[in-house]
Amino acid sequence: MRELAICMYCDTVHERIDVPVRGVARCTNCRRPLYHGNTDLGAMLAVTITATLAFVVANTFPLITLTSGGFQTEATLWRAITASYVQDLPAVAVALAVTLIVAPLFELGLLLLVLVPLCLRTRPLGFTTIMRLMHVMRPWRMVEVFLLGVVVAVVKLAGLAETVPGWGLFGVAVMTLALASLASFDRGMMWRRADELGKLAR
Ligand SMILES: [Zn+2]
Repeated sequence: MRELAICMYCDTVHERIDVPVRGVARCTNCRRPLYHGNTDLGAMLAVTITATLAFVVANTFPLITLTSGGFQTEATLWRAITASYVQDLPAVAVALAVTLIVAPLFELGLLLLVLVPLCLRTRPLGFTTIMRLMHVMRPWRMVEVFLLGVVVAVVKLAGLAETVPGWGLFGVAVMTLALASLASFDRGMMWRRADELGKLAR
């Protein structure tokens, strides 16, 4: 059966062809990316697990340790968020919480719910709903932008006190890289695998 790929920018319909692993299929009309060539679900699961572990590290360990006038404070992600809120920066606090905690948590949780069963060759429960949710969450994926914000904040603080980077910062960096790499996988592969498994079950 012929498989179709529709450009989400201009609605042009294409026939699906195989693309090399690091390649991208582009729309013939608007040249924007149609789908990616990386279809290895096992690798995608591995990257998702890495990102989840990094997420836990980022939320558990201090981002930086500050020493000033004999006092030592450990700045965790949570403390950075509550501090921004207390200092009359509620918008910053909400943006930090959504992009660094809520959005990655949702995305990684949903991906695991789909990828673990798919890799074990069973069709995930509520597959269509989860895929739709992930699509809706897409605009919130901008961890990269906020990593920059964290770096700027650390540099600013370094001028005020003696700062030592912590494991939390390492966690944020790894999580950012892993989430960015997840974007290079072909999500259509999840639909095709679920389809195959659905047919086998019938
Ligand atoms: Zn197009």
